[in-house]
Formats: sequence, structure tokens, C-alpha cells
Amino acid sequence: MKGAGEPAAGAGRAGRSAVEIRGLRKSFGTNEVLRGVDFHVAPGEVVCVIGPSGSGKSTLLRCVNLLEEPTAGTVRVTGVDLTGPEVDIDAARRRIGMVFQSFNLFPHLTALGNVVIAQRKVLRRARPEAERIARELLERVGLADKVGSYPAQLSGGQQQRVAIARALAMGPEVMLFDEPTSALDPELVGDVLGVMRGLAEAGMTMLVVTHEMSFAREVADRVVFMDGGVIVEEGPPSRVIDDPAHARTRAFLSRVL
Ligand code: ADP
Ligand code: MG
Repeated sequence: MKGAGEPAAGAGRAGRSAVEIRGLRKSFGTNEVLRGVDFHVAPGEVVCVIGPSGSGKSTLLRCVNLLEEPTAGTVRVTGVDLTGPEVDIDAARRRIGMVFQSFNLFPHLTALGNVVIAQRKVLRRARPEAERIARELLERVGLADKVGSYPAQLSGGQQQRVAIARALAMGPEVMLFDEPTSALDPELVGDVLGVMRGLAEAGMTMLVVTHEMSFAREVADRVVFMDGGVIVEEGPPSRVIDDPAHARTRAFLSRVL
């Protein structure tokens, strides 16, 4: 539920941020992992988050869909304050798709079954409609011929594309990706990045943690460099990746490029 006087979700969305984060802090015990993060993602924008291991990138993404509860600050997704006292977390999460490094498919379900199940259980879609949508999405991620395959029969790249189709089936307004290609053999990375590129071109709002600098350079509208739980710098990829302002960014890039 929203507070009195707050516009309904969807009202006046034009010009509003898809994701807006203010003063975000997150501690685990005495370890402050996010130390005041402010940024936004505009509708249709693709933002890539880069930075060293342990800098808080995953925690940031997990705060955006409330897999982690922020210690302080606000997280708004399409105008709805997820940190507000009366937010309907389940409804809010449905608008946010998440794809992880590990694909977490159900091993006992086919590709089709994996894309159908949440539509049935969460959205209560009738089976024929859920299957129609699942087939469409599996085709979109290049797996039309794999609908009947089980995860163990699929490559890592194919499993990750099923996971992307599964997230898309919920009709998200924002897609979060946390190092979606890091667990893949190098020859499988391109197919997954190709699907993500297609999504970006179709206008999906995306927040992507990645070490794939060529993807960030070519697809991101904006790159955010995080280190030590803060945003050190952000800007267009041509600036942040190719002409970084900060020594910490340069040091990181010299290790990954
Ligand atoms: P990144 O994704 O940039 O590698 P993370 O957000 O995963 O960084 O982690 C940042 C820091 O937060 C690390 O020091 C990590 O150990 C710590 N951390 C992350 N999740 C937890 C958790 N659930 N409990 C305790 N510490 C955590
Ligand atoms: Mg991480």
C-alpha cells in the first residue's frame, strides 16, 4: 500500500526514474558494505555497475529488490518506495526481474516448466496462457528447440537464457543482472550477452553488474564504478572506461581490461 497522497504506480510515470536510490546504506554487523549510495536509472536506460570484488555491487542489487533490507536510505522502483512502511513487497518484487550468476533452475522441470511455474503460482495465469508466453520467450532467447529439455541437458549459457526468459515472463519493468556470464565458459558468454543486448535494444530498463567491459562499452548508456561501498564515478562508458577520472577506477580497469 502507498501512503496517502502518493500517486498510484504508473500515474505520471513519464520522466520519473525507473530506479531511484538515495542515501542507501547497508551493514552486516559492524561491516558497512554500502556507505551512502545515490543513483538512478531512467526508464529504458541501461546502467552497468563495475568495480572490484567485495565493493558492494551484489548488495546494491539485492537492496533494489529487497533481498536485503537497507540499513538506511530509500529505494524507489517506478515511483514506489520499497522501503516505505506499508509497501507490498511481493507486488513490488514482481515488477523487478533478477538474473544471478548461478541460474537456479528447477532441475526436475523442463525449460518450458521453469518459465511456466512462477507465472502459474505468482501471477495465477492459466496454463495455456503461461505456456504460450513461455514458448514465445524461449524463442526470443534462442531456445525454441529446447523447450522440452531439462537443465542438466542444457549448457550453462542455455540455462542462463532460460533464467532470463523466466524473469521476463513476470513482465518486469526493470531487469537486474548480477554477473550473469561470470559462471559461463568463455564460448558461451556471447549468446547470453546477445540476448541482453536484444533486451536493451527493445527498450528494457536494465541494471547490470558485469566484468564484460566490451558489453558495458557498447550497450550501457551509463557506467557506474563502485569501490568500498560508494560510487567513485559514473558517466557514459566512453568516459568512465576509456578516460576514467579517478586513480581507483584506472587501477581497477588496468586489471580487467
Ligand atoms: P561484490 O558483489 O561487489 O563482490 P558484495 O556486495 O557481494 O560485493 O559484498 C560486499 C561485502 O559484503 C563483502 O565484504 C561481503 O563479505 C559482505 N556481505 C555480503 N553479503 C553478506 C551477508 N549476507 N552477510 C554478511 N556479509 C555479507
Ligand atoms: Mg557480487
